[in-house]
Formats: sequence, structure tokens, C-alpha cells
Amino acid sequence: MRLLKIKAVLVGAALAASTGALTACGSDGGDETDVEVKKASGLTGVAKELAEKGTITIGVKIDQPGIGFKAPGADAPEGFDIEIGRILAGALGISDDDITWVETVSDNREPFLQQGRVDLVIASYSITDDRRKIVGQAGPYYVTGQQLLVREDDKDRITGPDDLKSIKVCSVEGSTSLARVEDEYGAKPVPFATYSECVDQLQNETVDAVTTDGAILLGYAAEDPDNLEVVGDPFSEERYGVGYEKDAGGMCEFISDTLKSAEDDGTWATAFENTLGESGVETPDPPALDECA
Ligand code: GLU
Repeated sequence: MRLLKIKAVLVGAALAASTGALTACGSDGGDETDVEVKKASGLTGVAKELAEKGTITIGVKIDQPGIGFKAPGADAPEGFDIEIGRILAGALGISDDDITWVETVSDNREPFLQQGRVDLVIASYSITDDRRKIVGQAGPYYVTGQQLLVREDDKDRITGPDDLKSIKVCSVEGSTSLARVEDEYGAKPVPFATYSECVDQLQNETVDAVTTDGAILLGYAAEDPDNLEVVGDPFSEERYGVGYEKDAGGMCEFISDTLKSAEDDGTWATAFENTLGESGVETPDPPALDECA
């Protein structure tokens, strides 16, 4: 398996890390997708307001290689979710310099939207009926499925979710992954706030498996290919959506139209190849988008 290529943009200072806000102030352009920065026509409601304001705050993961990852010393995170954020910001006429990236973990995605701490959440965020009761979710822009990550030595012993009852499995609070193995497979998962903490536990041999979306696990396996392996078939369908505040008018239409254009003009595929594609995931056909209610 090919090692994940991490673009490290080295800067002198830890840039706003203390406030929890990660600023995007330029980059070397390395693996970034060329994104058109041009206000889309027909914006309404909150989408129009954001375009007029000219800045946007986006909640993302920063410890998931290929999806949302900030290398030590880098000035901005990178990954497929980040590229989706840049594409959406671009269609509001907002360039990289005016995007503030904020770290969200699985458990605070809804509160961050409800409290207005972020305008969007793009953070391996599965669309679910329960979440749609409290936040808006447009998409999906990608579909993956839950799997298991184990140490190479265990790959014949632990092969699927039915093995989880008898072993120590780590997953993340507030995720569909943790809830599913608990509710449907009788596991008693060890909960952490982030998947990178779970992977540390796996590498230390404190737990025997990590479970979440295959796309996330492949990113970790690509970083430690001699020791870690993704096993078994996917046992769920995780449809990644873009979260926004539930009553934010105009957002679903704006997000869906922009995703559709990016899919049609090849930007979506380029973004995928530059990010998740690097951890060995084949570029799929983009999934059909849900209708806006
Ligand atoms: N996609 C799943 C979820 O939204 C698992 C990944 C995550 O926790 O970010 O819950």
C-alpha cells in the first residue's frame, strides 16, 4: 500500500492554535484542487449573507488522514472534506485566506452548528434521520461504510463485527460507529473523543480493534502499512453530508447546486484523487444528492 502523501506547509508559529481556530493563509498549492472563487448566481438566505460577509467558518476533523488532517506545523488542514469546504467557499466568492477552519470532533458537531460557532460542518459527518431533526445536512458528497482496523497479527482472528463481543474495540463518542457496534453487535466499545486516540490504543495494544468508516481507517492503515490492516466487508452505509444550522435558509440549495456543479465539471473527482485517492481508495462515481426539503 502506498504511503499517504502529507503535504506539510511549514510555518514558523503555531498560528492561532491556542484559540482553536486554524487560519488558512496561503499554501504551496501542492495537492490542492484548483477551485474557482466566484460568487454563484441566485444565492438566497444565509448563503447570500455569507457571500456578502466574505468570510466563513468551517468545522472539520484534523486527525483523519485523507479526510481532514492538519500536519504538525502546517498552516491549514487538508483532505477531501477540506477540499469540499474550499469548493463551497469558492462558490460564495470566498478564497482560502478567508476561511477559518475550526476543529470539530464527532461529539460536538451538532452543538457547534446550533451555537453558531461554525457555519458549516464537513467532518466525515454521516447523514442520519436523528441528526436531521436538529441540524441541516445536505449531500451526500461521498459514501463509505463501517469496517474494522486491526493489528496485522490479528487479521485472521478478527474479521468482522460479530467478533467484537469478545474483544476490546475502540470507537468515538457521538459517532454512528460506536452506536452501531453497541446496539447491533453486542460490543462494549471503549470510547474516545477522536479516532487518532483509538489508533494509538491499537498500536499500544490496549485495544484490539478500532471501528469506524472504511475511508477513515484506510487513511490510518496507509500511515502504518506494516502494522495495521482494514479487515472485513463494510457493514453499514455512511453517507457524508455537509452540516449547517437547521433553519439556515438557502443553504441546502446552495450546497447541493455547488456539489452538483463540482461533480459535473470534474472538480469533485480531482479533489478526491488528491486526497482520499492517495490512501489507495479508488475514485468512485459521485453519489446522487438528496432533494432539499
Ligand atoms: N461517519 C460516522 C459519523 O458521522 C463516523 C465518523 C465520525 O465519527 O466522524 O458518525
